[in-house]
Amino acid sequence: MIRLATVSPCYNEEEVLKESTCRLTALFNRMMEEQLISADSLIVFVNDGSSDSSWNVIQELHQQNPLVCGINLTRNCGHQNAIMAGMMTARAWVDAVVTIDADLQDDLEAIPKMVAALNNGNEIVYGVKVSRTADPLLKRLSAEAFYRLQSSMGVESIFNHADFRLLSRRALDLLANYEERNIYLRGMIPLLGLSSTTVDDVLSERSAGSSKYNLSRMMSLALDGITSFSVRPIYGVIYLGIIFIIIAFCIGLYVLHALIVGTAVPGWSSLILSIWLVGGFVLIGVGIIGVYIGKIYQEVKHRPLYHIKEILTHE
Ligand code: UDP
Ligand code: MG
Repeated sequence: MIRLATVSPCYNEEEVLKESTCRLTALFNRMMEEQLISADSLIVFVNDGSSDSSWNVIQELHQQNPLVCGINLTRNCGHQNAIMAGMMTARAWVDAVVTIDADLQDDLEAIPKMVAALNNGNEIVYGVKVSRTADPLLKRLSAEAFYRLQSSMGVESIFNHADFRLLSRRALDLLANYEERNIYLRGMIPLLGLSSTTVDDVLSERSAGSSKYNLSRMMSLALDGITSFSVRPIYGVIYLGIIFIIIAFCIGLYVLHALIVGTAVPGWSSLILSIWLVGGFVLIGVGIIGVYIGKIYQEVKHRPLYHIKEILTHE
């Protein structure tokens, strides 16, 4: 039996916390009866600098409910950092962590399946949204377009998986070696290379309160998701430069033709040719500098070079 913790980031979630705790407690009791998790499992709430009474509610729940623990951040650090704070703190307490948003829009029934998958030898279990009908249409379309853009940029991530996942203690310990600042967990976790599987997650509506992810937060997460993992956009600049030079070459051919048949306008060809040629060389130059900056970027992230799976010795 494993000791499990759920980790839920909370930003102004006073309206949902009580109900979420009730539902999680019921689920935990059932899983304890089924001998899936141990009786000292935990429900961890991370208060991400809420300006409402969320922390008071968490303190109250902690008093009443032996399962509930709370972590209070000094200020709003953002969803990804709040999850990281929760996971890194809880890994000292438990064998596995399930991260789930405090509004419990994700499918609670997926949690026992995640634990079963862990018992079958998986270290990472991703919740994959099979139905997003609870999400507004615009959010659904933009999210799916983003997953596609991301994979075309060569970022390895799981399609339609957000931050609802189970990580074993080992996965958490490896994740702790990533020292980067712009964290995007959906991209970092596949880098661990541990055995993983997926379970279905049917999304439901938010029971109360409103979404804390506005358009600008979503855009900044999307931008992090690409720029923290891919230097492909830099190569795009170099390719653009090459296209400019090819265009200049075509214009050169046209100019030669105009000279031969005598339709050339004085001054036009030198001007237009220099614009495209110089433009092309400038773009290539910028791109080359970009490649070096991309390398510096990868160096400063100090990502671990490898994770050892097992070692055979005669000790
Ligand atoms: N959240 C957070 N810090 C923030 C913004 C959001 O901890 O700065 C939490 C929020 O309380 C919720 C989760 O992140 O538990 C997901 O947010 P939300 O449900 O509003 O996003 P949506 O489900 O609409 O994408
Ligand atoms: Mg939500």
